Amino acid sequence: MTINHRTVVGFSDIFALEYECPECHGRYAIPLERLENVICDCPNCHKAILDAAPTRNVPSIAAQVQQFVDSLKKFVGLRESERIRFILSDPDGAPGRVSDAKV
Ligand SMILES: [Zn+2]
Repeated sequence: MTINHRTVVGFSDIFALEYECPECHGRYAIPLERLENVICDCPNCHKAILDAAPTRNVPSIAAQVQQFVDSLKKFVGLRESERIRFILSDPDGAPGRVSDAKV
């Protein structure tokens, strides 16, 4: 018998956005309800965490993250958000069970 575990995350399960500095590896978690503007630079060493410069008509990574966070904050609390969940990948590398999905 094989037992597969899966981790399912709903929108209401998302509590905070965490940043990790690529230079000093400091981590900063900000609750979504308090997050107004995404952090682009590390508060500790001031290295860039998110690229804030747009490239060739493409919004910057920071702008895209900001847009994602803004959309997430609007979506949480809507009745529709209870019907959609994210399935996290299996850390053991087992294949996903997409076949379980009923389309
Ligand atoms: Zn840093």
